[in-house]
Amino acid sequence: MSVTQVPMLEIENLHVSIEDTEILRGVNLTINQGEIHAIMGPNGSGKSTLANVIAGNPEYEVTEGSIRFFGEDILELEPDERAQAGIFLAFQYPTVIPGVSMANFLRMAVTNVRNARAKRDGIDQKPFTPREFRKLMREKMELLKIDESFATRYLNEGFSGGEKKRAEILQMALLDPTLAVMDETDSGLDIDALRVVSSQVNDLMNPNLGILLITHYQRLLDYIKPDHVHIMITGRVVQSGGPELALELEAKGYEKLLAEFAIEA
Ligand code: ADP
Ligand code: MG
Repeated sequence: MSVTQVPMLEIENLHVSIEDTEILRGVNLTINQGEIHAIMGPNGSGKSTLANVIAGNPEYEVTEGSIRFFGEDILELEPDERAQAGIFLAFQYPTVIPGVSMANFLRMAVTNVRNARAKRDGIDQKPFTPREFRKLMREKMELLKIDESFATRYLNEGFSGGEKKRAEILQMALLDPTLAVMDETDSGLDIDALRVVSSQVNDLMNPNLGILLITHYQRLLDYIKPDHVHIMITGRVVQSGGPELALELEAKGYEKLLAEFAIEA
C-alpha cells in the first residue's frame, strides 16, 4: 500500500435522507485522479442523490459519514465553493435559463470559478474580457467539434438532448475540473449523439481528472471505458469490480441483485 497518497475523493459510510426518508444507507467510494468510475443501478437506487450530495445540493441531509476531497471535508462547503475546489456536476436534467446566451452563461460560470481559485492561490488575476473569453471558448468548441452558432444561442432553450449534453461538456472543458460527476450523460441520446458526447468526454480525460459516471445502462460504457464499476442498490454500493461487471450486469439484469440486496419497505 502506498503511504503518502491522499485519495482525491473519499466517501465513507455516507448516509443521506430526504424529508426523513433514508436514501443512501452507508456508501463507500474512493476515486483517484486519472480514474473513471461508473456507478450503475436500477432507478431509484440513489445514484442521482449521491451526485447531488457530492455537489452540495442543500435539499439532501447528510446524517452520517463523510466526503473528503484531497483529505478535506467538503460537507460544510457551499456548492459554489465545491465548484471552485474543482468539482463539476453535469446534471441529468439541465435547466433552461431563458434570455441568457451560452456564451454569457459560460463566461459567468468560468469567471466565478477562476476568480475564486485565484483568490485561494493568492494570485492577482484580471477577469476575462468578453473578447478573451470568446477566443478561449472558440478554441474549446473547435476541439469538441461544437458548432459556432452554439455560443450565441440561449442556454438550453430548444436544445436537443444531444446539444444539451454537448453544452455541458463544453462547460466542463472550460471549467477544467478535477472531479467530474456525470449523471446519466447518456439519457435521451441517440446512438450518434452518444458517440459524439462520449468521444468528447474521452478527449477531456487526463491524468489529473477523475470521472464519476452514473448510468443505468451498459451501452455508455462501450464508449467511455471505466476503470472501476460499482453497483448501487437501495442506497448502497453492493458490488465493485472492473469493466466486466457492467457486462455481467447487462447479461443478467438487476433482478437477482435486487432480490438479494433490496430492503423490505
Ligand atoms: P436514481 O438516480 O438511482 O434513480 P435517485 O437518487 O434519484 O435514484 O432517487 C433515490 C430515491 O430517493 C427514490 O426513491 C426517489 O424517489 C427519492 N428521492 C430522490 N430525490 C428526492 C426528492 N428531492 N424528494 C423526495 N424523494 C426523493
Ligand atoms: Mg438518477
